[in-house]
Amino acid sequence: MSHPLPILSIDDVLDAGEKYIKRGQLSIVKRAYLLAEAAHKGQTRKTGEEYIQHPLHVCMTLVGLRMDPATLAAAFLHDVVEDTPNSLAAIRLRFGWRIGQLVDGVTKLDQIEEKRSFLGTIWKRSVAPKSQSERRLESLRKMLLATSKDIRVVLIKLADRLHNMETLRGMPQARQKEIAQETLLIYAPIAYRLGISTIKGRLEDLAFSYLSPEAYLKLVRKVKHETANREQQVEKVRRFLHRVLAKEDIEANIHARVKHLYSLHRKLQRYGDDIAKIYDLVACRVIVKSIEECYKVLGLIHQRWKPIEGRVKDYIASPKPNGYRSIHTTVKATGNRPIEIQIRTAAMHEQAEFGVAAHWYYSEQKGMDNYLRRLPNFAKHQELLWVAQLAKWQRKAGSYEDIDQLMRIDFFGDRIFAYTPNGEVIDLPLGATPIDFAYAIHTDIGNHLSGAKANGKMIRLKDELRSGDVVEVIAQKKSSPKADWLSGAKTNLAKEHIRRALRLANG
Ligand code: MN
Repeated sequence: MSHPLPILSIDDVLDAGEKYIKRGQLSIVKRAYLLAEAAHKGQTRKTGEEYIQHPLHVCMTLVGLRMDPATLAAAFLHDVVEDTPNSLAAIRLRFGWRIGQLVDGVTKLDQIEEKRSFLGTIWKRSVAPKSQSERRLESLRKMLLATSKDIRVVLIKLADRLHNMETLRGMPQARQKEIAQETLLIYAPIAYRLGISTIKGRLEDLAFSYLSPEAYLKLVRKVKHETANREQQVEKVRRFLHRVLAKEDIEANIHARVKHLYSLHRKLQRYGDDIAKIYDLVACRVIVKSIEECYKVLGLIHQRWKPIEGRVKDYIASPKPNGYRSIHTTVKATGNRPIEIQIRTAAMHEQAEFGVAAHWYYSEQKGMDNYLRRLPNFAKHQELLWVAQLAKWQRKAGSYEDIDQLMRIDFFGDRIFAYTPNGEVIDLPLGATPIDFAYAIHTDIGNHLSGAKANGKMIRLKDELRSGDVVEVIAQKKSSPKADWLSGAKTNLAKEHIRRALRLANG
């Protein structure tokens, strides 16, 4: 289903890295590689390749995102602690505290992954209360970020997941589906929230190919046929733009992009499965140097071809919630299919492709401040609030000299994430107790709460929970809320329910 991956060598990675990292700073990456090479010696992946191909590919993806040397080194070491006798302490000693922290972060995420089992249920019940499933999935995504403590850990994990998806054929079928579900429900949305569209699209398409293989193959054929139809059109637009922009002395990079399959699949569901109506199936992208030129190009296009009404979207003036900026217009250039043209500056393009990963790069190149000031006001978009918090926090970080500071995630410091016995994550404020936990699961459970266990041991109802606790609540029919629960409840949800129950009880 996916194309065979190339066999990589460390030189491939270093050569690619040299394009943006000074040679001297790459030596630590090489050292990390050498350790990984030795540590994984003799190990193979389920697909039969040498194990070292895995960290090599993970690292190459991160080079593609132009991550810093510490992240690249950590990418090589990310499976070393778990799968080989090397300890975290040994890695800290040899590579320093920072890289040790990154490796530790990835290891912790892997441990969380092993804990949960409820995703399958959510997937099967996808018709069931959607807001509830979505809320729980969002808690899980947040927990992954909170556990990571550093955005770079998340990026390593995304690159790791990408290669695991690319080599998923080595897994037994039942596992393939589970991993694909988790990718679609957890990791692709995280990549989207962080604005990394390249990885998001690839993760979704790979997951799609395992979850609905027939629909996937059907769509591949359909797209092949349809894009052939549109090729001429793209060529015509390209030729026109080249000619006109040269005359205006505007330097531009013009290319076509084909829509990712899963997002196309979703869109087709909204458009009655009619691919002719998907104007951005193949879009023409024009990348120029300045915002002024973006509008100039838009004007030139509209002088030549009439735009389709309601299809001009100015995401430069009003960026999308995840920071995406571009101007889109759809014109009837030739043939019977309208075509979408996307106009943006090189910086916008970078941000669209790399999202949050572009942050540190920009902090060195052009000033982080500039970049962040352009992020839109997120307040309206509930689901993106934490991305906004991240941006705000980074804005406060001041000089941005220290990447470690910049990439730290500590805005979840006031939240804890506890598990139900079947691995579901409950997101609560710091200081929350089993009373809050019980009400967060269900009102009835809260109203009949009689006892609680954390990690298998009985605890008191007013004991504070900690992140990572597996909490089991015991409900009994004859139990009911007590007045003194109010002082043990931290969430408004629990307090309201307790008050209501007390009022009812007192007539
Ligand atoms: Mn891995």
